[in-house]
Amino acid sequence: MVKETGFYDTLGVKPSATPDELKKAYRKLALKFHPDKNPTQGEKFKQISQAYEVLSDAKKREVYDRGGEKAIKEGGTGGGGSGGFASPMDIFDLFFGGGSRMHRERKGKNIVHQITVTLEDLYNGSTRKLSVQKNAVCERCEGRGSRKGAAQMCMTCHGTGMQVRVHQLIPGMVQQVSTVCHSCQGQGQRISQKDRCKSCGGRKILREKKILEVHIDKGMRDSQKIVFHGEGDQEPGLEPGDIVIVLDQREHPHFTRKGADLIMSMELQLVEALCGFKKPVQTLDNRTLLITSHPGELIKPGDTKCVLNEGMPTYRRPFEKGRLVIHFSVVFPQTNFLPKNKLKELELYLPEKMDAEQPESMDDDLYIYADLEDCDFGNRKRRHRQNCCMDEDDYSSTGGVQCQTS
Ligand SMILES: [Zn+2]
Ligand SMILES: [Zn+2]
Repeated sequence: MVKETGFYDTLGVKPSATPDELKKAYRKLALKFHPDKNPTQGEKFKQISQAYEVLSDAKKREVYDRGGEKAIKEGGTGGGGSGGFASPMDIFDLFFGGGSRMHRERKGKNIVHQITVTLEDLYNGSTRKLSVQKNAVCERCEGRGSRKGAAQMCMTCHGTGMQVRVHQLIPGMVQQVSTVCHSCQGQGQRISQKDRCKSCGGRKILREKKILEVHIDKGMRDSQKIVFHGEGDQEPGLEPGDIVIVLDQREHPHFTRKGADLIMSMELQLVEALCGFKKPVQTLDNRTLLITSHPGELIKPGDTKCVLNEGMPTYRRPFEKGRLVIHFSVVFPQTNFLPKNKLKELELYLPEKMDAEQPESMDDDLYIYADLEDCDFGNRKRRHRQNCCMDEDDYSSTGGVQCQTS
């Protein structure tokens, strides 16, 4: 039992979630609430990030499960900064491969997009066109914002782009606050109105629409990233960022994927399980496999068989394929599917019973006839409660006395 479920609720998962389920939940929510897409949901983005930061770390997750959010905040699990949590942007960049903060300072921002794909797309390969908005350095002024040499140093901040203000808190105690220079918006330079670049209006960058062709290769996986290096946001003086495409596979109605294997279930009628069968299966590339039992083969409920080379193709080696794994279930006929006399006939074909049948004229004193009834577990519990004063649940919740059963 976990102490509280707040972090799990934030990510929309159960406390029993596997690391993979946590990753998937974070991926979906972080992309949805990223400030680029949802500028008003900053607080939500932060919560998602903090929940993921704790739950994705086995040690921190254990601390949280035992003591809740309070234990994390007090717990000395490292960190520092705002209540021991890393910045939501760092978590995001780490997850989506944007690199460290150091890296980010030399590079423009990465743009992350998620695209939904089907299992068929991943089996056959596919191409998608994606329209992306990004910042591009103005070509006309080459990112200067003006004619060459027209920019002058900002006199307010002396070219630093920052202003330092001194507040007096109480007499004798002052606080220094650095803010972005108002006169030049942190540019460190000023361009007079008439010298401003006509294309970008002095902003140095333009919003640009870019159509990307995304190639989904055979054998790619759910959550695999496709990176377009240098296609992300541009900023003057910085290396451009990347565009990162994340694949999100929609569930398939018949197949689930497990590594290179495709898993499916197949229902057999009793007669098929006993006497053999041929059953068609539609593959992900629209061929029809005729799944055929060997002569004399018998399938038992719960049996698992596989077909080689009919699983998923391997990424970059598409001719190597995994297995198609089939879990069988067997449907038994309805009650009274045969009249009594025919049942006797059927019995002749089935393996003999292990013990000889008791004669009809059995001595009633030797045996007690026990009829089979349908089990109803709800009723049984109630009956149990009448026999005994309390069941175990009651005992633990009231702290009462357990009755003696001997
Ligand atoms: Zn320009
Ligand atoms: Zn300035």
